[in-house]
Amino acid sequence: MLVEPSHPGNVGAAARALKTMGFSRLVVVAPKIAFVTREPEAIAMASGADDVLASAQVVETLADALTGVHWSIALTARSREYGPPQMAPRAAAEKACEFVGRGHVGNSGTIALVFGNERVGLSNADVERCSALAHIPANPAYSSLNLAQAVQVLAYELRLALLGRGDAMPAIPATASPTTSVPSASSDEIEGMYMHLEQALVELDFLDPANPKKLMSRLRRLFSRSGLEHEEVNILRGIAKHILLKIKR
Ligand code: SAH
Repeated sequence: MLVEPSHPGNVGAAARALKTMGFSRLVVVAPKIAFVTREPEAIAMASGADDVLASAQVVETLADALTGVHWSIALTARSREYGPPQMAPRAAAEKACEFVGRGHVGNSGTIALVFGNERVGLSNADVERCSALAHIPANPAYSSLNLAQAVQVLAYELRLALLGRGDAMPAIPATASPTTSVPSASSDEIEGMYMHLEQALVELDFLDPANPKKLMSRLRRLFSRSGLEHEEVNILRGIAKHILLKIKR
């Protein structure tokens, strides 16, 4: 997923990076140029990955892009004070593999790599929507890679991790053993839970909307360390619901 990319060439080159590593799904969030995937520069840089580019999905927000995603990695060139647990790209790719096939029953787990804009990177809010944060340990004196090159590094790590697991490439495996897996919560389920929880905390007067400080960011960081399951999200929503019901009475 490319969030607000500016340069059509990078979008094309990212499509190529994905296809060479056996992936085919590219999502572009709010590109600076509408219809960026049809720009001549994008098509030229995609080269033989023009099919991946042409079938790229364009959506308005990262929340839309992450709907149905069970585990996502935010790629950042800078470190962040808040946000999900930081992992090395290799460890993040390996962990991502564990989620493939851990979706709801009959549904495979979907994972996402999330990249930011060329100039400003990902916003803190976007980083906090993801399950983990990864930084490519580049030259500390100049650690900002070109967007499509960062995509290449992560797609390569993901390919190695999937090959190491013995999965058939090039396609991302569609299913894994449903017997050993616990359904993990998807991004939209988790976002719904945070909204519900926030509402309950405001009604409880624990969270002051005029002065929220970093409470929700801290709670996000806490829960993202735990790897929420579908059922656990339901329990937390149940607690929020009962707090709200009790206050109403
Ligand atoms: N100047 C921006 C960097 C933008 S580079 C900043 O300070 O955040 C464009 C995107 O490429 C980044 O948002 C990130 O997703 C990815 N990227 C570049 N270098 C990276 C690195 N060393 N580690 C992880 N991701 C990187």
